[in-house]
Amino acid sequence: MSTAIITPWAAVGDMSWRQHGACAVSTNPDLWFPEGNHKSERLAKVVCHNCPVKIPCLRWALNNKEKWGVWGGTTERERRRMQKSIRDQI
Ligand code: SF4
Repeated sequence: MSTAIITPWAAVGDMSWRQHGACAVSTNPDLWFPEGNHKSERLAKVVCHNCPVKIPCLRWALNNKEKWGVWGGTTERERRRMQKSIRDQI
């Protein structure tokens, strides 16, 4: 059973959710742009896992075809797969 998550940050184009992101207070923002560094990628994903704005962050990255970095707990490779899966279902 899935549960719909509705956040006040759900409006299209609204990026105010970013200020609530766990990464917003990080002292190492480069973690989210690991460029092949798998340790950084894993650490970023751990932080994203419990981030209160993970859903709007992932939605934004998918909607904007964000090519670089970890967004919403996903890498660019994972988002490409998600987008392909979405396209294949349409
Ligand atoms: S899900 Fe990750 S990248 Fe997105 S705002 Fe939260 S910590 Fe930052």
